[in-house]
Amino acid sequence: MSDFTFNNEQSCEDDSDPSSLLMDSALSKILSEISQVTETQVIDITEILGRVLAQDIIAEINVPAAANSAMDGYAILSGDIPGDERNELKIIGTSWAGKPYTAEVHCGQCVRIMTGGVLPHETDTVVMQENVQLKGDSIIIDARAVKGDNVRPIGEDFCKGDTIIQANTRLSAAHIGVIASLGIRTVEVFRKLKVAYFLTGDELRSIGEVLKPGQIYDSNSYTLAGMLTNPAIDVHKLGIIPDDKQTTRDALENAAATADIVITTGGVSVGEADYVRDALEALGKVSLWKVAMKPGRPLAFGKVVNAAFFGLPGNPVSAMVTFYQFVLPAINKAMGIKDTTTLSFKVVSLSFLKKRPGRVEYQRGILSRDNSGELVVSNTGGQGSGILSSMANANCFIILPLESDGVSPGETVEVQPFYGLM
Ligand code: AMP
Ligand code: MG
Repeated sequence: MSDFTFNNEQSCEDDSDPSSLLMDSALSKILSEISQVTETQVIDITEILGRVLAQDIIAEINVPAAANSAMDGYAILSGDIPGDERNELKIIGTSWAGKPYTAEVHCGQCVRIMTGGVLPHETDTVVMQENVQLKGDSIIIDARAVKGDNVRPIGEDFCKGDTIIQANTRLSAAHIGVIASLGIRTVEVFRKLKVAYFLTGDELRSIGEVLKPGQIYDSNSYTLAGMLTNPAIDVHKLGIIPDDKQTTRDALENAAATADIVITTGGVSVGEADYVRDALEALGKVSLWKVAMKPGRPLAFGKVVNAAFFGLPGNPVSAMVTFYQFVLPAINKAMGIKDTTTLSFKVVSLSFLKKRPGRVEYQRGILSRDNSGELVVSNTGGQGSGILSSMANANCFIILPLESDGVSPGETVEVQPFYGLM
């Protein structure tokens, strides 16, 4: 069952094609059909980096638990801050981080305090040691001090009962630190997403094999493995499948039996040896799309048994572009992440960017700063869908809208940094 009929007359070099699906509709259709993993597991804090939180993290203590000093200095009572004179205060003890000063402090007294040291009873202000004058066992302070200076109040980071991290968040190093500061050892996360992939093409050989005429090394295996490297994904690589009807069907059936998401590259265009479409039609629900994008117009999406299926184009750049634009948001949704939007913004292009209207183009760009410190972008040169070095040399996509007929240097373009992509 195809959502959009494939027009065999249409070559990928034509730009305007009324039967092509727009990027936004393709993505929202995909996301609406992706279901989220629901099973969870409780794991140790040392294992949670990059995993997706399945519970809210709620503070059971105040952090910090007591007001403490942000500086090395002297804890004083704010009532002792002089008007425009100076005041002498007697040092009666020391509050170290981890070793508080517990006796009372009265007017005219102060306590030496180290960063992280708990503020002694009644004191509410810390004067930096650089701003006092030592005189025997006293200090002299002036009118510069302000009540509350250099004090980290109780609960400054978070208060007991606060929701600190919401469920459906991907856990970063900072999140782990927050969880540790709350004294929490185990956390409930969604189980890992199971992603299986295979490559189609008679011409493909693995590294180590000798190439005969017409054969090429399979690189999509490696770019896919790289893009799928993620603590929240279990990757199952199924290897290279020849262009054969039955083998392609068997491979797809096998992959779909255990995976949440199955990805293939190649075999989705209108060529004689493109069997992925056929396998999908035999085994599941197919949407074979032409998406109004470049590179990457042919794209198959569907469902096989319980697995979502992505048939990416074989061209190495097309495979990467379609992965980032469609598969990555789908993976993020499936693993439980709430916000699947990617960061993009506008900068000035230094390059002339050639384009014909009719498709959204994902040119490969290099984002840098010009002499005045402004962010600017240039493209990586040749933009053919087989030129993988254009991806390797890039640090962003330059997204040129459907109707654009090219860009002159000095014009503004939308860029999507590879930041956050692998
Ligand atoms: P296809 O989508 O199968 O028509 O393939 C389009 C182009 O991508 C052809 O030039 C293929 O040789 C090439 N290609 C397909 N799969 C791979 C792969 N795994 N690694 C590198 N190139 C590939
Ligand atoms: Mg092929």
